Amino acid sequence: MENLDLIIIGGGPAGLTAALYAGRSRLDTLLMEKMAVGGRILLSETIENYPGFPGGILTQELMARMEKQVKELGVKIVSEQVLDLDCASRIVNAAGGSYQAGAIIIASGARPRKLNVPGEEQYTGRGVSYCATCDAPFFKGKKVVIVGGGNAVAEEAIYLSRFASAVSVIHRRGDLRASPILQERMRQNSKINFILNSIVTQIKGTNSLESVVVKDLLSGKVNDFACDGVFIYIGSEPETLFLKNKLQMDEAGFIVTDENMATTAIGVFACGDCRKKGFYQVINACGDGAVAADSAYKFIANQKGK
Ligand code: NAP
Repeated sequence: MENLDLIIIGGGPAGLTAALYAGRSRLDTLLMEKMAVGGRILLSETIENYPGFPGGILTQELMARMEKQVKELGVKIVSEQVLDLDCASRIVNAAGGSYQAGAIIIASGARPRKLNVPGEEQYTGRGVSYCATCDAPFFKGKKVVIVGGGNAVAEEAIYLSRFASAVSVIHRRGDLRASPILQERMRQNSKINFILNSIVTQIKGTNSLESVVVKDLLSGKVNDFACDGVFIYIGSEPETLFLKNKLQMDEAGFIVTDENMATTAIGVFACGDCRKKGFYQVINACGDGAVAADSAYKFIANQKGK
């Protein structure tokens, strides 16, 4: 079994920033990522609120730069899905083998939440999508709906409008929670329209997706709304199932930490979107990652001094 100073689980902005700080602290560090390094932010095309990039930067470019910076410091990155973590021994079991470390940082992020309505699973990849950046070009000149009312919906509705002929935002309340600057841009966009106080109760089609069933929550009326694609942006769920009953989480599975990113398991730290907090942004995921690496460094130094 390979022994390391630090294992970081997850290669999004939080994990990569933790790796950056760990590399600069000369910790022997392994970063494990089950999918593409960069994380869920890659589902968005650009990021406009990361400081230092007026006009925004492509998320792929930002994350590629973070990865390069980390690799230059000698941090090892492996493509492996973590199956299990033994918090007491700090042994990580993955499909490709087991690894042990002096400290662990969990930066496993979050995945898109599902609507859980009939038709969603059946049409996923055939009209239902959770990634406008990936799939918008398939809907050139077509009519799409996008479900949700947060920042992700706002950004992705604007992106989709570059391809689709019409983008209908279906949201369960009368007000969106997206930032005012994004709401202004949506309302100025002639391709975007709003179906508010409404929910999607079914996704229908024959060979391909043809419509969604929309229920107006004020009137109770239900109608079929014709569309070619459904994009779902209704928030996220933490990727923490592999940690169940191993450390304290809230009822939704977000990991509870203190301000130093320490979890309830000694020597195990958590940062970014998998952590319970009030504000989920790339910028504070990076901040979390830096704090977690500093805490892990101090923990390891303390253990070595004993
Ligand atoms: P979010 O901010 O949590 O918003 C989720 C939206 O989906 C809410 O409007 C919510 O409605 C709705 N919703 C939740 N469950 C639903 C359900 N079962 N059926 C129908 N609607 C449902 O999530 P997000 O927009 O995906 O963003 C995730 C996080 O990333 C947020 O913290 C966000 O600020 C951040 N983010 C930031 C940026 C940026 O700053 N540029 C861009 C993208 C994402 P209610 O409003 O009624 O609760």
